[in-house]
This record gives sequence, structure tokens and C-alpha cells, in this order.
Amino acid sequence: MSKEFETFYTSIGLSKEQAETLKEKYGVETYKAKSLEAACTAAQLSLGNSQVDTSPLNQTVVGENWSKACVSEPYCIIQPKTAQDVSKAIKTISHYGVKFAVRSGGHSPNPGWSSVGHEGILVDLQNLNQIDLSDDKKVASIGPGARWGEVISTLDAQGATVIGGRIPSVGVAGVILGGGYFHFIGQYGTAADNVKNFEIVLSDGTITNANSSVNPDLFWALKGGGPNFGIVTRFDLYTVPVRGIWYQASIYSVDQADAILEAYAKWQQNEGATDLKATVGLGISLDAISLGLVYSEPTTDQPSAFAPFRDLEPLMVAVPPTNGSITALTTIMAGTGAGADRHDYRAASTRIDAQLYKEVHAFWREKALAVREATGANQTFTIQPVPKNVAIQGEQKGGNPMNILKENHGWWTTIVDWNNEKDDDLVRSVSIQTGEKWKQLGDERGLSVPFIFMNDASRDQNPLASYGTENVNKLKQISQKYDASQLFQKQQNSGFLLSKV
Ligand SMILES: Cc1cc2nc3c(=O)[nH]c(=O)nc-3n(C[C@H](O)[C@H](O)[C@H](O)COP(=O)(O)OP(=O)(O)OC[C@H]3O[C@@H](n4cnc5c(N)ncnc54)[C@H](O)[C@@H]3O)c2cc1C
Repeated sequence: MSKEFETFYTSIGLSKEQAETLKEKYGVETYKAKSLEAACTAAQLSLGNSQVDTSPLNQTVVGENWSKACVSEPYCIIQPKTAQDVSKAIKTISHYGVKFAVRSGGHSPNPGWSSVGHEGILVDLQNLNQIDLSDDKKVASIGPGARWGEVISTLDAQGATVIGGRIPSVGVAGVILGGGYFHFIGQYGTAADNVKNFEIVLSDGTITNANSSVNPDLFWALKGGGPNFGIVTRFDLYTVPVRGIWYQASIYSVDQADAILEAYAKWQQNEGATDLKATVGLGISLDAISLGLVYSEPTTDQPSAFAPFRDLEPLMVAVPPTNGSITALTTIMAGTGAGADRHDYRAASTRIDAQLYKEVHAFWREKALAVREATGANQTFTIQPVPKNVAIQGEQKGGNPMNILKENHGWWTTIVDWNNEKDDDLVRSVSIQTGEKWKQLGDERGLSVPFIFMNDASRDQNPLASYGTENVNKLKQISQKYDASQLFQKQQNSGFLLSKV
């Protein structure tokens, strides 16, 4: 038996007899030919049948991805239960040189990011879903496969709040590794900025930590650097002192779009920049506009921070002014992104300017209406407020690679929902052209912001490149240091990878 094979099988806990079986079946030196079969068998011997599903595949598990465009059937699925299991899985994937994808909540709509076909192995982290709170309630330890709905409600019941994702079904890992936009981002910074420690499995199977004193360069890189450095198996998050909150949501007519965008820009420039407890969720669909107002503490009256919206007459009040919990607000938001089989989103950033907002919205609306007529696709137009304090919080909490503009500005996104594969290109053309419009008009008027938010970025966008050359070079050095074999660049099926920058 070769030394390499002996080291490998011992490291994943196989006995000599099991290794002999593997050797007989696949051949030690010729394993490359049947590497996927060998890798899945080795993983099954190491982790057991309950964690490694070879065949026939369980379609409910395969079908976990949010968008059907991402569903594909891997050669086998590994569902680890501990970081040690993830380590064994990675050692096996590395030894056999096979392709793989990592999935936590499966909410990326980008095909191949968290799914892989018969040519690879899917590492599905849904069983790594711990939600623990420290005795002093200052740190919550969360598994990557937990969903934000459970995280928020479990912690809320124990008197704690973290900065995470707004929609209950979305996974923990993808949100944090891409930065993470939450209601209270203006006060506390991105979800990634509120991480105390990442537990991570590196490409050689080492289980290590990244925080401000251990592997601080890796800590910096993980705060928005995506799936480039290893498989994160636990996020230790600082809790924030937000308990009860105030919120209200109203529905407006699409004819009010210009007035709402004007009020929104005014709010972003003034109250939204100075009273960081206030945030606004704006969603413009083709039939109606929803405006959610959220304040990070209870109040008796509508906070004065929302004054710019007072003169707008809603069609209806969907959620009356309420002093409630973050769990209740998360439940209200559960419907976001539901209702069709295929999905996409897209990102752009912009400085604040009502005229620009109105022009880009009008451009988008005309195209989106025509495409709905042809395909039935639904689309929304959303601008998420990003006060200057988001960049400041990032700096104060140790820095991150995202290079977020230190000015009040906005991150545009769109969620696109449709049903038929044949319409993929036509439907996606609306958001692609709208992204180009943001850039063209923004460049002409000095209002462009290069940043592309990874968590809203579509398959053809390059969010990492938008972090700037200096940060990209630094990220590449960190990737070489912690992933000497470059497994996450070469064997990972797809994703926002540094090798594509
Ligand atoms: C309905 C909806 C609402 C959303 N709301 C928000 C929001 O409020 N705030 C926000 O910031 N974003 C939001 N997003 C965007 C979301 O952050 C991304 O879609 C994110 O990728 C989803 O994370 P996931 O774990 O569910 O995804 P997955 O598809 O499982 O993973 C996404 C990427 O992360 C990688 N990955 C997954 N787990 C790990 C791990 N443990 N270690 C290393 N890499 C890993 C995957 O390989 C893949 O490349 C929303 C998306 C949707 C669809």
C-alpha cells in the first residue's frame, strides 16, 4: 500500500481491512479512473450510511435549492454532523481529486454555486444547525446549516438578537460569508462585521479558528470573502442590544413610484443618515409598492425619522404601527421570494439621487412589464439603504475586504421569479440591462459606486473584483496561505471564486 494511501485512510478513520477493500475495488494507484465512486465509498466507510447517500438519491434532499435552476443530482451527498465529519469529507475529496459543492441554506440562485451534478459530490451542511447562546448572552454560536428564522426566534426567546438575514428560510453561512444585510446594518454594520470567531475546516482537513487574535488575516478575509477559504462549520456572533422594535408596513399604488422614490432619497440623505435606529424596506413590484418602516426600539408614536413618508397616502396599511419582536417581523417577511420555480437576483450600488432612481426605475418597469407579458415573470425593484456608518462599523470591528463606500448610499437589488427554463435568458435580460443602466447613468452623473454586494450578485457578476485590486491581491495571498493545494479554487464546482477574478 502506498504511503500516501495509508496516511489518507488512517486520517479518515478507516481500518486496514476497509482500506484493503477500497484498494481491491478501485486500485490504489489507479483510483483516478473511478475516483468519484471510490471517494463516495471511502466517505461512506468513514462516515456511515446515515451521512453519505450514494444511490438512489433522495430527491427531497437533492431538491433543497431555492431555485429549480440550481437543482442537480450529485454523484453522492455527504451530510456531516460535526466539524470532524466535514474534515473527513474534505480529506476524501482532496485525496481523490474530485469536484464538490458546499450547501448551507441553498438560497443562492446561481446554478452550480451550492449544487453539482453527477460529476461531483455535494457537501450539505443542514445537520450542522446548532443555535447556542453563551451564559452571559453576549455570543451566539450558530451552525452554517441553520436558517435565519430559527436562529432569530430561538435567540429572541432567550433574550438575544444577532445581525443576520431578514428572511426566515435563508441559510446562515451564505449570508455571513457574503457580508450580510440586516435591518440594523446602519447601527451595527454587516452580519460579517459582527462575527467574533469562525470555526473553519481548511483544504487539508485542519479544523481551526479565525478571529481577531488567531489567524487574523483569515478572519478579515472571511468577512465578505465568500466560499474561497474553507468550509465554515460554526459562526460565533456577538449579540446586539436590540430587544423590542417598532414597525409598520403600507402598500402604495405603482403610480406613486416617483413620489416614493423622492421621499426615499430625501430620507436616506437626512433622517436615515442621522437616526440609525430607523430603517426602511422598499420593494417596488410591477403591481404595487411596499414600504416597511422599522425602528430598533419600541416607541409610542411613529418615529420622527420617518417624516419624509408621512404625506404619502397608502392604498392600505398592511401591518399597522406595532411595538413587536424581531421574531414577529421575521415571520411577516417569510413570503419574500416565494411563488415560482426559478429565481435570480442582481446587484448594483448607487449614490443617493432621486432623479437617477426615478429614471432607472422607469427603464426597468417598461422592460419588466413587457417580459411579464411574454413569460409571466415577476420582478421587484429594491433599493437598500446603506448609511455611512456601515463602513465605519466595519473599520471599528477590525476591517473587512469589501471596501464599502464610506458615504450614505444604496444597494439596489431585484428578485426575479419565473417558471420556464426556456425563458431564462429573456427574463434575466431585464435585470442585466437595468444594471447597465445604473452604471451608464451613474457614470455620466458621477453617482456610480463600483461595489457589488455578493449576496445579491448574479452568476455573471464579479463581486470580489469590486472590492478593489489591493483587497483582491490580499485575498489571493490569504487563499494561497490557508489553501496550499487551491482545492477551493480548483475542485469547487463554482461560486464567487478568487480564481475567476
Ligand atoms: C428570499 C431571499 C432573501 C434574502 N435575504 C437576504 C438578507 O436579508 N440579507 C442578505 O445579506 N442576503 C439575503 N439574501 C441573499 C443570501 O445572502 C444569499 O442568497 C446566500 O448565498 C444564501 O445563503 P445560503 O446559505 O442559503 O446559500 P447556499 O446556496 O447554501 O450557499 C451560498 C454560497 O455559500 C457557499 N457556502 C455555503 N455554506 C458554506 C460554508 N459553510 N462554508 C463555506 N462556503 C459555504 C456555497 O458554496 C455558495 O457558494 C436573500 C436571498 C433570498 C433568496
